[in-house]
Formats: sequence, C-alpha cells, structure tokens
Amino acid sequence: MSATQDLPGKVVTRFAPSPTGFLHIGGARTALFNWLFARHHGGEFHLRIEDTDRARSTEPAIAAILDGMTWLNLNWDGEVVYQFSRAARHAEVAHTLLAAGHAYRCYATPEELTALREEQRAARQPMRYDGRWRDRTDWPNDADYVIRLKAPREGSVTIDDQVQGPVTVNNAELDDFVLLRSDGTPTYMLAVVVDDHDMGVTHVIRGDDHLNNAFRQLALIRAMNWPEPVYAHIPLIHGADGAKLSKRHGALGVDAYRDELGLLPEAVENYLLRLGWGHGDAEIITREEAVQW
Ligand code: GLU
Repeated sequence: MSATQDLPGKVVTRFAPSPTGFLHIGGARTALFNWLFARHHGGEFHLRIEDTDRARSTEPAIAAILDGMTWLNLNWDGEVVYQFSRAARHAEVAHTLLAAGHAYRCYATPEELTALREEQRAARQPMRYDGRWRDRTDWPNDADYVIRLKAPREGSVTIDDQVQGPVTVNNAELDDFVLLRSDGTPTYMLAVVVDDHDMGVTHVIRGDDHLNNAFRQLALIRAMNWPEPVYAHIPLIHGADGAKLSKRHGALGVDAYRDELGLLPEAVENYLLRLGWGHGDAEIITREEAVQW
C-alpha cells in the first residue's frame, strides 16, 4: 500500500488471532504491519481475540498474545474485543439475512452431506454444497437446520487486493456456506464479517491463507449492504523447504525469542519488518521511520 495514498476518513485496522497456541512469529508480523499502517494514517489499531472455537481456545494462549503484543510495544486502541462474547450479535445478523431472503434454512443431515461429498469425490468434482434447500420452503417440524447464505451464482467477484493485485473468482465456484450452525453458534465466516463491520474496520491486513475466505466474506458484506473494506493479504513466512513456517521448522512463540534467545523487542521488530519488505539499503529502522515509510 502506497504511503502517499489518499485515504478518506479514519483508517481502522485490526489483528485478530485465534488463541489456540503461542503468539506465532508470523502473527506478530501481521500485527506489526496492521499497527504501522494505522499509525502511519493516524488511525486506530484494534485487537480482537477470536475465541469462538471453545474446544481449542485457551486462557494461557490469550495471555501469551497479550504479553507478546505488549513486549513488542504494539499498543492497541480501546478494549480487547473477545469474539465469543458477541455470539448473540452474530446470530442476530444471520436472522436479519434470513428475514431479508439473503439466507435460507438448510435441513440437510450430516449423512446426506457426507453422501454428497462422496459423490463429488467419485466424479472428481470440487466438493461444495449443492444448494438443495436454497428454494425450498417445505420445512420439516422440529428438525435441526443451519442457516446458509444465498450467495450469488452468476458472474464473478474481483478483489483489488493491495498486495496481491486484482484477484477474480467466479461465483459458481463459491457455495452457499453456513452462517449459523444448528446449535445457534456462528461460523468463523459470519463472526469475522460482523465484528469487522461493527468495529469499523476499513483495512483488512492479514496472511494470504485468508484470501480465499475474503470472497465468501465479501458476498456476506454485500448481502448486508455494508461498506466493503480494503483487503491486503500478505505472504506468509515460509521455511527453507517452501512450506508455511511451523513448529516443524523450529518456529517459536514470541516469548521464546525473548526468554530463550534473549532478543530485544526492537531486534525482533526490525527483523520482522525487513522480512518481505525493505526501504532501500536501510538495515536498522527506527519506529518513527517505520511509521513514516
Ligand atoms: N483468527 C484468524 C486467524 O488467526 C484471522 C482472521 C482474520 O484475520 O480475518 O488466522
């Protein structure tokens, strides 16, 4: 994103980690870029803990994220937003879409969906929900249902990603994904969109493993007639073998760079800054310069 870009209104970014493990070094890099972009534009940077996966989210992981962010001096604006606490609001939006005809009840059973996937696999077709309940209204009494988005089927969507450039996907490739599960809990796809909207996020800067999700999220944003954020999907950090950096490569939590390797936060920041970005020959970049550049 060009530093000279004229941005109308206030810039709001966010870092939205799932607290399922330590604060990964790749997560710290995403947080840093969000922080810098917001500070450059005199905007706001928010922290949202995506703790909707109750089985995998842990208190120690939340503590590690807050601790790592504080150590790296990545101060966030306002209170930390805990996604799980917003579940009622997520459900409300699913029901709004249902009432407006932009979503529908799907009564397909897990067995039916497994059979569908098997058929698609056998026919070497991409696995996706076929919309079998999209136009039905013969709803059975007392049966479980999920709420699915009635996604557009014709045409295509182009995202003008600020890092990847324009990326186009045919709507035929996207299926009617689930918004609300039969137990009334929101899916990740729904929660992210509602929270970004309610938090006023203008720029979604995150790892490019989320680029595919952006097309589904945009369909949801358009169904709600909400303002569309600017997307910037940054390449992930990879190991020497080309695979996404993981524990297998010896990747550590941010705390280990401090406690085991004894690195200073300024050194970690400088390293992360220059991983995939640079400013001429500058090797040691101060915070002020980083914000400016
Ligand atoms: N919670 C997601 C993750 O940790 C990020 C979601 C997002 O940035 O939109 O990968």
